[in-house]
Amino acid sequence: MVTPNDKFRKVEKHHFILLPCKLCGAPAELWQRWRWEDIWDSFGCCTNLEDVDGEACLFHLPDDMHFYRERKVDAVKHWNLLMGPRPDPEPLDPRRGEEPIAENE
Ligand SMILES: [Zn+2]
Repeated sequence: MVTPNDKFRKVEKHHFILLPCKLCGAPAELWQRWRWEDIWDSFGCCTNLEDVDGEACLFHLPDDMHFYRERKVDAVKHWNLLMGPRPDPEPLDPRRGEEPIAENE
C-alpha cells in the first residue's frame, strides 16, 4: 500500500483535476514515485485501499509503466484518458442477446 515514505510521496498542492477511478469510483490523487537521485515520477493513484476482497484497487498502485511520468501534467493526462469515457463502446456480446443501440438513442 502507498504511504508517504522515501519512495512515495503525495503531491498535496496542484491545480489538476483527476477523474475518479473507473474501476471502483473512488477519488484519485496525484502521487510521485522516486526514480533516482532527485527525480520523481508522477502518477495518478486510486485512493481505494480495500475492495470487496480486502485488496487495494488495481489502480491504487498501477503496474503499467505508462502511469509513471516525468511531468505531472503527463501523468494526469494519462490517468484521465484511461478513466474517462471509452471512445469506443464495448463490442457487443451475441451470447447475451444484446442488440445494437441506434445512433439517435
Ligand atoms: Zn479504484
